[in-house]
Amino acid sequence: MAVGWHRPTKLVIDTQAIKDNVYSEVKRMPQGTELFAVVKANGYGHGAIQTAKAAIKGGATGFCVAILDEAIELREAGITEPILILSVVDVSYIDLLLKYDLSVTVATQEWLEQAIEQLNHIERQTPLKIHIKVDTGMGRIGFTTPSAVKQIVELVQSTKSLFWEGVFTHFATADEKDTNYFEKQAQRFKEVLAVLFELPKYVHVSNSATALWHPDNVGNMIRFGIAMYGLNPSGQALPEVYPLKPALSLVSQLIQVKELSTGEGIGYGNTYTTTKNEWVGTVPIGYADGWLRHLQGFSVLVNGKECEIIGRICMDQCMIRLPEKMTVGTKVTLIGHDHGANITMQMVADQLETIHYEVACTFSERMPREYK
Ligand SMILES: *Cc1c(COP(=O)(O)O)cnc(C)c1O
Repeated sequence: MAVGWHRPTKLVIDTQAIKDNVYSEVKRMPQGTELFAVVKANGYGHGAIQTAKAAIKGGATGFCVAILDEAIELREAGITEPILILSVVDVSYIDLLLKYDLSVTVATQEWLEQAIEQLNHIERQTPLKIHIKVDTGMGRIGFTTPSAVKQIVELVQSTKSLFWEGVFTHFATADEKDTNYFEKQAQRFKEVLAVLFELPKYVHVSNSATALWHPDNVGNMIRFGIAMYGLNPSGQALPEVYPLKPALSLVSQLIQVKELSTGEGIGYGNTYTTTKNEWVGTVPIGYADGWLRHLQGFSVLVNGKECEIIGRICMDQCMIRLPEKMTVGTKVTLIGHDHGANITMQMVADQLETIHYEVACTFSERMPREYK
């Protein structure tokens, strides 16, 4: 996709904030714990490579991604730290896992048997690094019983072409006040560990929420995602343990300003009609940028003042009601601080009836990311 470098709409990413968020966690982690920065989905929309580099400065010692291509992107950018792929990679790509020195998740016995078969055909290899995934109640991927895990460990340990690097699970409710289900999952994971005769280098259970609100339960590696970007994993349900610094802002400029008289329609479907003489500004951002149509009625900031988005949001532009005449080129802040006012990712998420994770991932490739 063409990136809109020649348009005033852009995401501004504060890499210092990312570094600070990582360091805030690193300095409170128990001794001997490592932090792997989760940079899947292009670093939750913030840019994977720049986020990864900032995370290293904050003390991250490895990375997690969701898919093989994201891992390769990091390697090609010169990242040499361990990289764990959290989801299932087709066994036909095992040569790439070895070539790029990547660690992969094992979630079923079939996969492992097929992988061993593939590895038998690859000569002079270093062993494939694997992390065994235990499904303790997320219901997504992984082994569900201690005996299944034990059997897999035995298979791995008797296979020279495999290296058992990790065992892990993932919590479904670590961001909630009610800890019952969390405790149940934690207990199940303990039962799995109890049947193993030895443990691998990494035993890990923590996403951001677990790290923040269940610090006794972190294993020896934290998979730190959303909090690194400065966003509270729980939305507003639980208070931040230390101040998280949001890394992302979204800005643009007015490209046209006009005064309309009473009774004029705005946008497709004519869903807004002026009720008096109104100053209307046009902002070059639309749903193709991830500024979705449900944001109609939400507000943006111009000179620190809230200006309502009026009429339907178009693919590439939207219109806002201005308090007074303003000049073309005036800065528009859609997310972030402006003259003491602030629009947060959470506010956008609330308007869209979703979570800020989804908002961050929805920003399209068309918007350039500027790093400071
Ligand atoms: C995405 C993901 C994480 C990171 O979660 P956050 O809530 O963003 O910290 C950790 N572990 C797994 C398995 C994930 O898929």
